[in-house]
Amino acid sequence: MQLYHQNTNLKFCLRGTGFESKQATGYNCCNETFQYNDREHGIDRMEPSYLKLYRRGELKRRAEALEARLASCDICPRECHVNRLENEHGFCHSGYLPIVSTICDHHGEEPAISGTRGTGAIFFGNCNMRCAYCQNYQISQDPGHQSSKKMDFCTLAQQMIYLQDELGCHNISFISPSHFVPQLVRAVLEAVPMGLRVPIVYNTNAYDSMASLQALDGIVDVYLPDLKYASDTCAAKFSHTADYATRARQAILEMCRQVGDELILDDSGLAQKGLIIRHLILPNGLAGSRDSLTWLVKEVSTKVTVSIMSQYYPSYLASQIPQLRRKISTSEYLDVLKLVDELGLENGWVQEMNAAESYLPHFEHEGHPFAAEQPQI
Ligand code: SF4
Repeated sequence: MQLYHQNTNLKFCLRGTGFESKQATGYNCCNETFQYNDREHGIDRMEPSYLKLYRRGELKRRAEALEARLASCDICPRECHVNRLENEHGFCHSGYLPIVSTICDHHGEEPAISGTRGTGAIFFGNCNMRCAYCQNYQISQDPGHQSSKKMDFCTLAQQMIYLQDELGCHNISFISPSHFVPQLVRAVLEAVPMGLRVPIVYNTNAYDSMASLQALDGIVDVYLPDLKYASDTCAAKFSHTADYATRARQAILEMCRQVGDELILDDSGLAQKGLIIRHLILPNGLAGSRDSLTWLVKEVSTKVTVSIMSQYYPSYLASQIPQLRRKISTSEYLDVLKLVDELGLENGWVQEMNAAESYLPHFEHEGHPFAAEQPQI
């Protein structure tokens, strides 16, 4: 691993096991590049753009327009057209109120997201995909249990302020938000007058509708999408999402249009605005890494920030599926690292090979779902 890092002229930095934040200080080579971009763009790091939308009344208009779409829901590409205002359920098993499974400070994300004090993670329950290997399956694929976790908007807004003010989190990350975009915007709208001022991170599977993403323009500061598959056939077989590759590519292009292809960091290396694309290496080449990363370079940019993830573990149903029942091999891992080099991708992070051993959340346990990653005090 060190040979890869030392012999390449990429600005990619090797990441610690499970992206542990205490190792983030080892990634300063990325920060130098991004600080340059920061000065170049001259953005106001202290004021996320959603505050400007709030003052103009635009945030309220966006929340109302999104909520109106819940009456015949087309919030994600499934376009179920159920009336979620009346708590009818479509594919995502979710009605009007947001389902919030877990709220915590999370220290295991990319260094530019977790920093030293963690990201304020808000895990939404349920999902608009059905990945057979989902590591969050306890909250994403158990709608019966999740139905007890509805949260009103005022409480959710107060929790955001708690993450910001009491835990000191650097930003608020909405995790698996694609089926709760109207609720996310309503919660931000309620949290602004309470004092919300940190960046908003949209941590998504990328199965997002164009209309919903366009409604988030200026509200989301940092997009953190997956790029799971290059093949719609694989996406249909393993995630029950037959048009995933097509939709995810469209979504990423829209995110890039909004926030640009270069990640803007503040002086301490924290993301203020931009796009980080996560690519989880799957066994047996199922993620289509060459196709996906080649597409990124051709259609987005070599400068786009990429997070290469090796933490695949055969969770949930994967142990019953021959192609998914093992972790990735060393050669599969090294092949993707060589590809990153070959394609000229310049910015991002790579998880170390043993990440799968240490990065499984436990949402059914009492306490923090990522207990193993908490900083040692
Ligand atoms: S958000 Fe849920 S109900 Fe709405 S279109 Fe998507 S899966 Fe269907």
